[in-house]
Amino acid sequence: MTSATHVVTENFPPVAGRRSTFDVEKVRRDFPILHQKVNGKPLVYLDNAATSQKPESVLRTLDKYYREYNSNIHRGVHYLSERATQAYEQARQAAQHFINAGDPSEVIFVRGTTEAINLVAQTWGRRHVGAGDEIIISTMEHHSGIVPWQILCQEKGAKLRVIPINDQGELLLEEYEKLLGPRTKFVSVVHVSNVLGTINPVREIIELAHRRGVPVLLDGAQAAPHVKVDVRALDCDFYAFSSHKLYGPTGVGVLYGKAKLLEAMPPYQGGGDMISSVTFEKTVYNKVPHKFEAGTPNIAGVIGLGAAIQYLNQFDWEQVEAHEREVLAYASERISSVPGVRLIGTAREKTAVVSFVIEGIHPHDVGTILDQEGIAIRTGHHCAQPLMQRFGIPATARASLGFYSTRADVDALVAGLHKVLEVFQ
Ligand code: PMP
Repeated sequence: MTSATHVVTENFPPVAGRRSTFDVEKVRRDFPILHQKVNGKPLVYLDNAATSQKPESVLRTLDKYYREYNSNIHRGVHYLSERATQAYEQARQAAQHFINAGDPSEVIFVRGTTEAINLVAQTWGRRHVGAGDEIIISTMEHHSGIVPWQILCQEKGAKLRVIPINDQGELLLEEYEKLLGPRTKFVSVVHVSNVLGTINPVREIIELAHRRGVPVLLDGAQAAPHVKVDVRALDCDFYAFSSHKLYGPTGVGVLYGKAKLLEAMPPYQGGGDMISSVTFEKTVYNKVPHKFEAGTPNIAGVIGLGAAIQYLNQFDWEQVEAHEREVLAYASERISSVPGVRLIGTAREKTAVVSFVIEGIHPHDVGTILDQEGIAIRTGHHCAQPLMQRFGIPATARASLGFYSTRADVDALVAGLHKVLEVFQ
């Protein structure tokens, strides 16, 4: 989580300087919620793909904003408003550097990944996609990466084409190449699958699309917290992620877009702040990014996201990735050794997620029994029903890691799974 810029101002509480080594116990101390008992047992939080926990510095930033400078942004001339505006725009710069975007105006604050994808479908999509055109997605998309495109296709008479996967949960690149054709208008794929943990070969996906002049959106909801994202190195046209999975507050996220594309796109929503002048006859829109941020945004959330990024900037990304890889390998091995367990998603390139089923036991029962042990995992279709259909299962149990996850968490989970087996014996 390295970045050239550390946003340190009076708005963001100072964090300790750069950490030379990754000490997971020290990291855990930054997250107050982790230190509690649930059902009389120490909390084991393994539902980070759904949402991650927030460090003290983010909590303090939110508190400070509401206590000291809560105010609306951009239009105020008074002290509080100027300070809130400054913090909001500093968070934009923090997000810009976090994903290595070329300019802060390429960072649009939205509600989250879902809104980011809808924004692109409803603006770029509506303008450029017509009858008979095709949009390529993949089998492992979250519903947020399916439904917005389906809505667009229905409206325009366009078609969704879907990249198949193999049994390990890896995209079949040669099939993708075959799908790319003269009618392809857009490609939208997950960077990292929320069910399988697969890290997709997004560089190749983008390159193949660009050879045909087709823009690509990456759904980075599960990637941003776990792999270094560099939108310029990837050369993606759009990138979406959510703050709440990145140790920041809920209700806010980022849509990155290349400036040239954003400038040419029509606005998403109309209202305050997205205009430069309005008469009853004609409205002139504001420049990007403000053109896409109609109405009072989630000011506290954005500032909280800035604090989360500032917090993450203390860490060496390679050390974080190494830690998560180590815990993932341990988790995969230990969980798969539990009798009756089958892992769903065994891609060579994987991060942070272990999905599994246990023969003869419904995942919901697994989750409920684990909860009695203070262990939080997620069970269900994980908003990826077509992927469940691909594997011929209705649901999985999913343990997902954060960078504060430990081998001890995995040991507790495995002990819990043995309890599940006992109950069903
Ligand atoms: N895409 C993926 C891969 C996700 O995991 C999620 C969240 N589960 C989303 C999109 C949607 O994110 P949000 O609910 O924050 O908009």
